[in-house]
Amino acid sequence: MEVVMRYAPSTQCVHAGREDFADLGVHAPPVDLSTTYPVHDLDAGTASFDALVGGAAHAGNPIYARLHNPTVARVEQAIARLEQAEACVAFSSGMAGLSALLLAVRQHGGHMLAVRPMYGTADHLLSSGLLGIECEFVTVDQIASRIRPDTALVLVETPANPTLALIDIEAVVAAAGSVPVAVDSTFATPILQQPLALGARYVLHSATKFLGGHGDVIAGVIACAEADAKALRQIRAATGALLHPWAAYLLHRGLPTLALRVERAEANAETLVQRLLQHPAVAAVHYPGLNDPRDAALCKRQMRGRGCLIALELLGGQAGAAAVMRAVQLITPAVSLGSVDTLIQHPAGLTHRVLDAETRERTGITPGMLRLSVGIEAVDDLWADLAQALNAAIATELPLKAAA
Ligand SMILES: *Cc1c(COP(=O)(O)O)cnc(C)c1O
Repeated sequence: MEVVMRYAPSTQCVHAGREDFADLGVHAPPVDLSTTYPVHDLDAGTASFDALVGGAAHAGNPIYARLHNPTVARVEQAIARLEQAEACVAFSSGMAGLSALLLAVRQHGGHMLAVRPMYGTADHLLSSGLLGIECEFVTVDQIASRIRPDTALVLVETPANPTLALIDIEAVVAAAGSVPVAVDSTFATPILQQPLALGARYVLHSATKFLGGHGDVIAGVIACAEADAKALRQIRAATGALLHPWAAYLLHRGLPTLALRVERAEANAETLVQRLLQHPAVAAVHYPGLNDPRDAALCKRQMRGRGCLIALELLGGQAGAAAVMRAVQLITPAVSLGSVDTLIQHPAGLTHRVLDAETRERTGITPGMLRLSVGIEAVDDLWADLAQALNAAIATELPLKAAA
């Protein structure tokens, strides 16, 4: 383990969770699809059962696949390495992971704080109070004064979905005091940002996005200290929100190229931002550190790069955004992000639809906003497609203007 920790992140991506391959005599992770495991020694089996139900990372016998799966444990170990965490717990989706976290901290108090904007469904889960925890939405400046004796968690997402607003993780940790801070770091990936090193207690990823990276697996992970992971595993064993071993295999299959994908997509994004700023159909471009000098300084301090997501606002508003969605040919008009291919979507109409219109407005999710998840294609091909789609948006507006 100590030897492995010395390697650079791009090397970790390739080798983490594969350290025992030479001993096993394999070159790809074995997939264990068993739902149950033979128990010939009942005393040992009972001890394993007790350990796993209690949240142990592994036991002599996995007993039953809802309690433990070696293929899932392997990718958890890999992602823990990438986040430089003691442990990682994988779930059937990012939302399943967030739900488990809320249930785990709920035992310490029924109140939490969160900063908007964040992923639409996460916002919806928190504001609905569905899991019995009352969530107050606050600004970073309000955190310290809104902490109560029963505040069990502070949750932030940075960069935020979909506006790419940045939150100062160290400032949040300082304001939260002894209350644990969870950071949804999905947009940044472990390559660009490591919240645990900045004092966060939990880092969450929708592994559906960059970690999987190929648009073919839904998964969620939480990296944290072993004691916190134990509580999360107890909840996973009890509620059944486990990651299927095939999905775990696919997730692990995506990791070796993570650093490479992020570097390439980010370089593409940097170029596209510059070109978008020049295009007559575009009213505004949002990208970490682009519009606000304070964000730029924070970005330098907190992240290793600005990432692969861009939000743009069309001069033509909702109609302009719809025209771009209709016109793209190479770029896929679809929700989700972090895939090898470039995706574009309309937050107000899709991912952030569940928020009420007033909240969307207040958090900067405008009708003319599109979110672009930049992939690894050749940037000139991406720009050619984007430029023709933006031109199509202008063309759709002209008859409207003429009629008005
Ligand atoms: C997609 C996403 C989620 C939810 O993850 P799922 O895997 O879709 O359940 C949470 N947070 C962010 C930032 C996301 O982009």
